[in-house]
Amino acid sequence: MLSLESFAAERLAGLEARGQRRGLEATHRADGVWVERGGERLLSFSCNDYLGLSHHPRVKAAAMAAVETYGAGSGASRLVTGDTPLMGQLEARLAAWKGTEDACVFGSGYLANAGIIPTLVGPGDLIVIDELAHACLWAGSKLSGAETTRLRHNDVEHLDDILTERRGSVRRVLVATDGVFSMDGDLAPLDRLAEICAAHDAWLLSDDAHGLGVLAEGHGSAALFPGAAIPLQMGTLSKAVGGYGGYLCASRAVIGLMRSRARTFVYSTGLPPASAAAAIAALDIIAEDPSLCARPLARARQFTAALGLPQAQSPIVPVIIGDSHAALAASRRLREQGLLVVAIRPPTVAEGTARLRIAFSALHSEAEVARLAEAVRPLLAA
Ligand code: PMP
Repeated sequence: MLSLESFAAERLAGLEARGQRRGLEATHRADGVWVERGGERLLSFSCNDYLGLSHHPRVKAAAMAAVETYGAGSGASRLVTGDTPLMGQLEARLAAWKGTEDACVFGSGYLANAGIIPTLVGPGDLIVIDELAHACLWAGSKLSGAETTRLRHNDVEHLDDILTERRGSVRRVLVATDGVFSMDGDLAPLDRLAEICAAHDAWLLSDDAHGLGVLAEGHGSAALFPGAAIPLQMGTLSKAVGGYGGYLCASRAVIGLMRSRARTFVYSTGLPPASAAAAIAALDIIAEDPSLCARPLARARQFTAALGLPQAQSPIVPVIIGDSHAALAASRRLREQGLLVVAIRPPTVAEGTARLRIAFSALHSEAEVARLAEAVRPLLAA
């Protein structure tokens, strides 16, 4: 039998040969967009801190005050003694912001999806999931033991066909999608998905990780489709909100069920108090300043207009390179010019679609975006 050491070394060598080996690089994010890496100061277009709130003085002050008052950790799962008063406040804020009856905060967005999905469906049920949905929706689906069917990306007719064919032979049906697709930046047609789900008695789960704080005056992707019934709205506090944690906004009954049965909620330590306090302060700022929330998309649109690319629908703009080695080389060329744009490679994206994933922030100036566009232009021609 292959030893553990040989197994790991062989796997690593295989990844290296395909341009898929990954490595860490210590990064000091000096503010929202300027970072220091390997002694270099770089302008980053790879952070998901879309509003720069991770460094906002009010957000930092709230986190520090919470450490003083409640300590560095929450000490136990929320159902035991980890439920600081901040958690209820945060959940009430999230529910009000999303227009749902209640909300439940999890340790992270990944943990949220890994807990939500198996709480709702299992063997004998069907999950229909967009092929480009985030890895944690796939992880939750696998954990649930339900049959999982891949939906062609954003293809509402395909969804209708699947549900017409399968609805009669399964018990419960969950349809899972990103609201904003994390590696492509496009939006799910949530209004049409909601209609089809309603017609077939299926439950729609939308992951708004990249919508909260940056679309629809900060309310997120679902709010772009007023009237669309989306009973399960999850997301993260780690992107535009600038901190850490995940959430589900839903009805009182669904949230009650999560608190009793979602394994990543019940068996995992509660979010640190500082993270809850930071998120509350960040949500205050988001609610106060719609012009801040609008800026990342405006910057993304400045970029797509400058290069004649399809108009950005979110602050995420992919520049597809294809080959992993070529994507790494493109990223290196930008870095030589002081720009940090990380290459995203398989298996995060499909084989042959390695890319530069550009994320725009409210903190980028128009001049900085123009500088990036000029640096990317020759890569498009290549
Ligand atoms: N969903 C999507 C669409 C994401 O992009 C991410 C973050 N990469 C997550 C969920 C996971 O959120 P978190 O980072 O809070 O675990």
